[in-house]
Amino acid sequence: MKYVSTRGQAGTVTSAQAILGGLAPDGGLFLPATFPHYTPEEMAGLFDLDYRALARQILGLYLPDYDPAALGGFIAKAYGNNFAAPEITPLAVVDDHLSFLELWHGPTCAFKDLALQLLPYLLTAASRQFGINKEIVLLVATSGDTGKAALAGFQDVPGTKVIVFYPEEGVSAIQKRQMVTQEGANTYVVGVRGNFDQAQAGVKAIFADGRLRETMEAAGKSFSSANSINWGRLVPQIVYYFKAWADLRKAKRLAMGETFNVVVPTGNFGNILAAYYGKKMGLPLHKLICASNANNVLTDFIRTGEYNRNRPFYQTSSPSMDILVSSNLERLLYELTGEDPAAVCALIEQLRTRGSYRLATEQLNRLQETFWGGFADEEETMAALKEVYTKYKYLIDPHTAVGYKVYADYVEATGDRRPAVIAATASPFKFNTGVARALFGAEAVAAKDEFAWLAELSRVTGQPVPRGLQGLEEKPVLHDRTIAPAEMEAAVREILGL
Ligand SMILES: *Cc1c(COP(=O)(O)O)cnc(C)c1O
Repeated sequence: MKYVSTRGQAGTVTSAQAILGGLAPDGGLFLPATFPHYTPEEMAGLFDLDYRALARQILGLYLPDYDPAALGGFIAKAYGNNFAAPEITPLAVVDDHLSFLELWHGPTCAFKDLALQLLPYLLTAASRQFGINKEIVLLVATSGDTGKAALAGFQDVPGTKVIVFYPEEGVSAIQKRQMVTQEGANTYVVGVRGNFDQAQAGVKAIFADGRLRETMEAAGKSFSSANSINWGRLVPQIVYYFKAWADLRKAKRLAMGETFNVVVPTGNFGNILAAYYGKKMGLPLHKLICASNANNVLTDFIRTGEYNRNRPFYQTSSPSMDILVSSNLERLLYELTGEDPAAVCALIEQLRTRGSYRLATEQLNRLQETFWGGFADEEETMAALKEVYTKYKYLIDPHTAVGYKVYADYVEATGDRRPAVIAATASPFKFNTGVARALFGAEAVAAKDEFAWLAELSRVTGQPVPRGLQGLEEKPVLHDRTIAPAEMEAAVREILGL
């Protein structure tokens, strides 16, 4: 299997080259030139596999230039006891129609662990394959979840360093505590006195700095990305949609030949794109329901064909979806344009210069054939969270609650009651003040801090605090550096001894 760039100017590369490269040299994103497809008979053969065996099957198709035995070893290590659930991504069936796919049993309690527990192995194996002895330095700007998941994934991985920049005021107390208590001799966590956009812009500037790149080369180091622009972060996410299908069948909620819907709380469009690739591979999916919060740029895009980032930015209780430019959408544009890189480039150029672009009618039709878009504002999100708890005695986090509300709107608009799976992207304990606000009201929330709410939610719901969040308050702070946005490059130089 060969990989090409969405912008068409990077030739063809192997999967290892695509993963090592991160972003394609022409500025585009790598994706497979052709997708594998399972026949119904082959699908039947996947039905009984456990998570690791399923991952070996599916990832083996996408990563044929990796040694299968080595890949199997990476998968065994990535999806083992580090997950608190032996099923890795258990499916919680709450009624005849509806299930939640729990993607938050990994070490950092959000779905990004499914990719970032595996990526370090894929990246370092690719580096070895090409005989590159360089140290790989991962630069991450995070609004909270990616930073901790990258730190946990790369902790003490030989030949790598991780430097995470987080906005001092932009992350929750738990997210901050998760990061600043990170162990590992190769991990660095730096608070930026600014917002996420400033941290992100700083990282982009460092990536683009030719002089710094030369200095890095000379010192035997190279930068890489743990963001979902990297194919190595996207491809592991396809696996759990197949797992959800097998579990739905086992739970007798999906008959042979029947299709199901998935609902994905979406920010950068990575998770839902993995579901789309699953559908291309033969997964019996009907609609992919794209759920946004008040930052509803994707809802408008799917409904009208116009992508317009010129709009106010809202801080919400689902911060991992507070995004106005969804970088993975470029991979979908490649599909919608009929794999036409020149057309993709034209749209991306309009986004850069005008902040907006519009699909042609035929492209919009193609988009709407598969996707349905909706959003939930703060009040609706809180109401949805409470409704799920009251109706099903099932606790979800605010990101997942956005998904539930949008799913309810979808059913009302279409009458489509076929089986649906909502991706539960984070543990309710991780975003516990949003959960507490929904269940007990804003006043009750103010009376306790996030750490006290961990224990209180556990008491009220009878569910244990997830392992990754236990004892957080007592852990020693190992990273206390904070800097101004303008000091980011200097901080990188100092950390790397350049
Ligand atoms: C990252 C994240 C999302 C958004 O996922 P995308 O792949 O960026 O669309 C949703 N929910 C949570 C909890 C996340 O951490």
